[in-house]
Amino acid sequence: MTQRTEVVVIGGGQAGLAAGYHLRRLGVEHVILDAQAAPGGAWQHTWDSLRLFSPAEYSSLPGRLMPVQRGQTYPDAAHVVSYLADYEKRYELPVRREVWVEAVHRDGAFLRVRTDCGDWRARAVVSATGTWTRPFLPTVPGRRQFTGRQLHTVQYAGPADFTGQRVVVVGGGNSGAQIAADLAHAGVDPTWVTRRPPRYLADDVDGRVLFDAATARRRALDAGRTDTGGVASLGDIVAVPPVRTARDAGLLGARPMFTRLTATGVEWADGTRGEVDAVIWCTGFRPALAHFASLRLRGTRGRIATEGTRAVDEPRLHLLGYGDWTGPASATLIGVGRPAREAARDIAALLRA
Ligand code: FAD
Repeated sequence: MTQRTEVVVIGGGQAGLAAGYHLRRLGVEHVILDAQAAPGGAWQHTWDSLRLFSPAEYSSLPGRLMPVQRGQTYPDAAHVVSYLADYEKRYELPVRREVWVEAVHRDGAFLRVRTDCGDWRARAVVSATGTWTRPFLPTVPGRRQFTGRQLHTVQYAGPADFTGQRVVVVGGGNSGAQIAADLAHAGVDPTWVTRRPPRYLADDVDGRVLFDAATARRRALDAGRTDTGGVASLGDIVAVPPVRTARDAGLLGARPMFTRLTATGVEWADGTRGEVDAVIWCTGFRPALAHFASLRLRGTRGRIATEGTRAVDEPRLHLLGYGDWTGPASATLIGVGRPAREAARDIAALLRA
């Protein structure tokens, strides 16, 4: 069975909801298709101790401020999930759940969205599928020979699984620092390895400053001025309280990356070896865009070429929330509102034409 609507939004996490909010304001008929059984996108699956790197009021989607979480300056993931659940209810966003989008095809004047619950035919598509479903693991010699446990950030549930174990945490970004700190606070004493020495942002810098830096960079680039370097120029790790306390207590010393994995551990650059029970790869993500394979859109590093949020080679398609390449700070709660508004306006104009 094929259903019809003006716009299909793929993904019902924060980016999909922000798109829905602006489409609704403009009176554009749409449906939001989301694979999960419940609201909250990726926030439903993070580890318990994860804290946002911004206070609540700086972690808000358009239209509604995130309420402050009692006793927490930096809210936890469960708070974000309840905020997103409330948000979609409050604005009566048309989310259909447990619908997996398999592919998007061109179909004359329409785009055909193939799902495991039937097809949709739409005049425009917004893709807001995030990155959580595409964990990235680097190619490291010996990775397949290692007989211990290997997991990615997306599978990390908390330190309880690692009590008494020798654990290596790989990655110098926020996930690596937060997971290493989480283990250290629980007495696991992980070995934290990073490709370059950890670059902490100043302790008083949080998501507010990151958002401003991303916006300043976008403005400079749009105006043809010199690249300010954006967020990356400030550092890699936001010193949220658990990270700061672990670092200040001397629990977060990082080592340079090992050269390879052996069957039972790691080998360091000087040839010495260490036995390891588990390796946690906090090595990032790629955009979840496999559903566009048949459109054959140009792009590098797993991306699709965009102007703003619009796909260069398919003007009926917008990409939202994947990173700065789809709008400054668009992969954050506070940053996704503006590109979502621009995408909705662009689509409304396209539908009027
Ligand atoms: P998601 O939350 O992943 O939502 C995408 C939705 O699309 C999911 O429900 C998914 O199931 C669904 N989907 C995917 N593919 C399909 C398909 N083919 N068909 C149907 N549905 C599909 N941001 C902040 O603002 N502050 C922070 O402090 C912060 N901390 C972070 C910490 C970590 C460890 C990580 C990984 C990210 C953090 N972020 C933070 C970044 C960002 O806000 C989150 O990653 C956020 O979840 C991204 O939202 P999204 O809507 O783009 O994607």
